[in-house]
Amino acid sequence: EQFFKILLIGDCGVGKSCIMVRFTEESFNESYISTIGVDFKVRTVEVNSNPVKLQIWDTAGQERFKSITRNYYKGSQGILMVYDISNMDSFENVKNWSKEVEDYSDLNLSKFLIGNKCDLEDERSVTTEMGEELGKELGIKFFESSAKTNNNIEEIFYELAKDIYDN
Ligand code: GDP
Ligand code: MG
Repeated sequence: EQFFKILLIGDCGVGKSCIMVRFTEESFNESYISTIGVDFKVRTVEVNSNPVKLQIWDTAGQERFKSITRNYYKGSQGILMVYDISNMDSFENVKNWSKEVEDYSDLNLSKFLIGNKCDLEDERSVTTEMGEELGKELGIKFFESSAKTNNNIEEIFYELAKDIYDN
């Protein structure tokens, strides 16, 4: 059976852990999920009628200290670069994350840009158009999502798995 290593990266608090938990456990928790040590969860999906095990890695607070190591990126086939649509800083930081990804990971990696917390329309500070523009600039697909309402979460992982598969 094939497995794909997928990484969630982005600033602290954007919802990476919630996205991982939503997809692998089909639940959402309002409280802050703090993980100790790098962790991953697994869910099997079907791509072109073949089972593929998605091993989804979540950074466990290291993003606060900018100390994610090369090892974390090693062997990864897919990356979700996540920001929070209600947090402009997290959006502006995507470029720094993108540089790190380029330095540390394989060239033909499948990457998507994710604007999470799209349920917080009243608190939105990053417009959908800004996300689209940045996606174009980085040459990667862009999605908005909500781990809270499960908006686009399934679609994102299925699309990414397909993208890796076809890569
Ligand atoms: P991480 O640091 O990137 O792993 O972020 P977490 O997954 O721990 O989420 C940080 C906070 O944002 C928590 O309080 C979550 O409940 C909240 N959160 C995560 N995703 C969403 C979302 O899609 N919508 C809303 N409204 N809150 C979210
Ligand atoms: Mg987390």
